[in-house]
Amino acid sequence: AVRLVRLGRRRRKKEDVKAARTRRRILLDSDDDTMSLAEEQPPAPAEPAAGPLPDAVTEEQLMSSGHELLEGHTCPLCCLPIALPMAKHSKFKPCCMKRVCDGCILASRQRGMGSMCAFCRTPTPDSDAAVLALIKKRADAKDPVAVESLASAYDEGDYGLQQDTSRAIELRTEAARLGDLNAHFNLGCIYDEGDGVEQDVARGVRHFQHAAIRGHPESRYELGCHGYNERNHELAVRHWMISAKMGDSDSLNEIKDMFMKGYATKAQYAEALKGYQDALEETKSPQREVAKAFFNGSD
Ligand SMILES: [Zn+2]
Ligand SMILES: [Zn+2]
Repeated sequence: AVRLVRLGRRRRKKEDVKAARTRRRILLDSDDDTMSLAEEQPPAPAEPAAGPLPDAVTEEQLMSSGHELLEGHTCPLCCLPIALPMAKHSKFKPCCMKRVCDGCILASRQRGMGSMCAFCRTPTPDSDAAVLALIKKRADAKDPVAVESLASAYDEGDYGLQQDTSRAIELRTEAARLGDLNAHFNLGCIYDEGDGVEQDVARGVRHFQHAAIRGHPESRYELGCHGYNERNHELAVRHWMISAKMGDSDSLNEIKDMFMKGYATKAQYAEALKGYQDALEETKSPQREVAKAFFNGSD
């Protein structure tokens, strides 16, 4: 199965972030540890140049924009939003760089279209080399989704590519510059964690912000985690309220947790829950219900 946009992989709960930060801090505080670490480690590969820092986002922009899901969260065939996490309810099509919902994929199969893409109606490529060629062709034409897909392929060593983290980061940086929100999200995680690059939390946050203001709930969730880790509980709640209402269950769970801890009101939790349920309701259709039963049964 072709899975190109791996949003779930890097996502983590705020507790994990805290634990990771603490470990880093211990290392940095202790000269001995740092030295022994330096001796044991092989020479670091050349890191990709980070390029200019993404523009600053104003507080006003951050809180007033990006409350609606972006176009990429909508199935291009039935035009309904796809439930989060999208990879669980849809398939990415490298032929047209579209994410088609399971409901439309099943409907297309039932119409006898077989291995044709439900959206662009070209035959699904049957080899890694053929998929890679499609992605590269579109990436060369500066299709942002394709550039991010190629980055994912280098990151994972997919389609017979030699795994190359530096190349992946270069491509992601380009995809983000071209406006791909998943690229912004992934760069956010990469810089936030120092995963293959020198850690740069401020840069990571900028990337999350750029995706969040354009309607990327996973990035909004991360911004909530940052607020929480900085003990800015009010900010965390404001972010998570937005992403919960976009249908992000992790954000809803955080709001519930904040309510239990006394950082969010009962009214806020009720509002988040209602918003989440409404968002989820909007993703439902009879066709998708059939697909859910069908694909769950066959998995
Ligand atoms: Zn659909
Ligand atoms: Zn297609």
